[in-house]
Amino acid sequence: MRVAVVGAGVSGLTATKCCMDEGLEPTCFEQSQDIGGLWRYTEHIEPGRPSLYASVISNSSKELSAFSDFPYPEDFPVFLPHAKLLDYLRRYANHFGIMEHIKLGTTVVSIRKRPDFATTGQWDVVTEADGKHTSYVFDAVMVCTGNFPEPTIPLHSFPGIKRFKGQYFHSRQYKRPDVFKGKRVLVVGMGNSGVDIAVEASHVATKVTVSTRRGAWVLGRVFEHGYPWDVVFNTRLMSLIRNNLPGPLARALINYSVNKRFNHENYGLQPEKSCLVREPVLNDDLPSYILTGRITIKPGVKEFKDNSVVFHDCPEEEPIDIVVFCTGYDASFPFLEEKIVKVENKHACLYKYVFPTHLQKPTLAVLGLIRPLGGIMPVIEMQARWAARVFKGLCQLPPQSVMEKEVNEKKKNQVKWFGLSFDEVLKTEWLAYLDMLASFIGAKPSVPRLLFRDPRLAFTIFFGPCTPYQYRLEGPGRWEGAQQAILTQWDRILKPTKTRVPASTSSPYPSLLIVMGFLLLLAALYFGFP
Ligand code: FAD
Ligand code: NAP
Repeated sequence: MRVAVVGAGVSGLTATKCCMDEGLEPTCFEQSQDIGGLWRYTEHIEPGRPSLYASVISNSSKELSAFSDFPYPEDFPVFLPHAKLLDYLRRYANHFGIMEHIKLGTTVVSIRKRPDFATTGQWDVVTEADGKHTSYVFDAVMVCTGNFPEPTIPLHSFPGIKRFKGQYFHSRQYKRPDVFKGKRVLVVGMGNSGVDIAVEASHVATKVTVSTRRGAWVLGRVFEHGYPWDVVFNTRLMSLIRNNLPGPLARALINYSVNKRFNHENYGLQPEKSCLVREPVLNDDLPSYILTGRITIKPGVKEFKDNSVVFHDCPEEEPIDIVVFCTGYDASFPFLEEKIVKVENKHACLYKYVFPTHLQKPTLAVLGLIRPLGGIMPVIEMQARWAARVFKGLCQLPPQSVMEKEVNEKKKNQVKWFGLSFDEVLKTEWLAYLDMLASFIGAKPSVPRLLFRDPRLAFTIFFGPCTPYQYRLEGPGRWEGAQQAILTQWDRILKPTKTRVPASTSSPYPSLLIVMGFLLLLAALYFGFP
């Protein structure tokens, strides 16, 4: 079965590998001259490929941003500068022989159903390389072109921007802080781009103001007891608690833990709607930069004037020289007909964020169009493992009406009594989503079963970070090294920081949590938790 993979970033590389694992024949088309997608930093901006700023560092830690059968090298830092992440992707591609399936410098310009699609599920794919068009027929397609190709600058939401005499640009255009030297800077939008850029600008600018309509939880990469935030947040124990408490209690728990370091209200950061979970901003510097007056937080922009800005609920104008719109991105698929993948309000109608609901044959999958609260690499890999098995006919999708109903329900994104609700449809609980897809392919680890077979492993899996190797312990794609990778995960987390004294594997979990967790595990077993 021949599969076209469009794009050779994180998604395209793992999609190609998962197709190879299932005995499919992938051809991966990448429009630029190299692999890596977003993570290949370049000084100049290329159309259709996301652009990073020079200082960007991953906000998910390496153990939770790994592919499930390929841990990062021990000595890589816990959070990764772009060059290290690209290095990892190159190692992955070389190790698994992915490169020989990739056609670089080749843009996919059109993907259309073949006339006999209803019976064959095949696609006509047209590519362009050096001005030459080539047509292919493929049995299936994996779309891996990323979530961030089109910057969103909603200028219509900013009255007066046309008369503003200063400079303005989108965060996608930002590379280094020298543009801000001696200037009064306004950063619009409090996502991770906005806060990273504001912090960096404040080293050279005269003044930096961040405007946020909704506020955000700000977490440090350095979290409780100095552990990486996601290692503490994304454990099975924590996920079980978060998703099984009544909504208000779950939110109160989150509220309590995110406000332990500093009270968000006192810093002007408190998220507007506390009933909705927003993607946290990961920044260790912001609170101290607010305390030291380097950064000021303001509400949403009311209007721009010639050389200043007025904020909602603030009477005074603030003089401004440069505005950076850190207002996010839109996904787009110019090579597909709109009716195949329709994107509305940044949400595509995809079953489990992967499959269009209305195709007669499930032979097209979209990977990475999701924003889980954790590293996206294992999530995309799991999507690819599932999609490859759906293509092969080893996993079935439910009937169209069932898929459509679920997608439409999701769009409403209603606040639930149990579990969490997110501020946007694309945002998802990381571990629950991974577990769900893993259960589709028979790779979800069973803690109760492991408890009898290998109690040490079961405990590490339940209390420790949910490292992706857990999804290679059983089922298709089982990896011999999975158990060892899980048992040595703390070595790889501690090795790059414990550089003065040798790293030891002393228990990293607080003991009270272990006792509570053990009781919960017993309760879960008793009540039939799978
Ligand atoms: P991309 O990396 O965007 O790759 C898509 C590829 O498709 C590109 O190489 C592009 O050239 C190619 N392409 C596009 N159109 C075509 C076409 N028509 N034909 C052929 N090729 C095409 N996630 C995390 O988990 N942790 C992080 O710390 C993190 N940090 C981030 C920081 C920033 C600033 C941003 C914007 C995102 C971050 N993300 C992070 C999310 C990020 O999107 C993923 O880490 C990952 O890069 C997504 O990979 P992808 O392959 O889906 O998309
Ligand atoms: P984003 O998370 O989508 O945030 C965009 C922000 O823009 C919104 O949160 C909103 O902020 C504001 N906004 C949107 N529409 C607006 C409008 N009409 N008017 C005013 N403000 C508007 O975008 P991003 O920060 O660029 O991040 C994109 C992705 O990249 C995220 O997944 C992020 O985690 C990732 N990223 C990671 C890193 C890192 O690893 N270090 C760095 C950067 C980005 P307000 O509600 O506050 O107004």
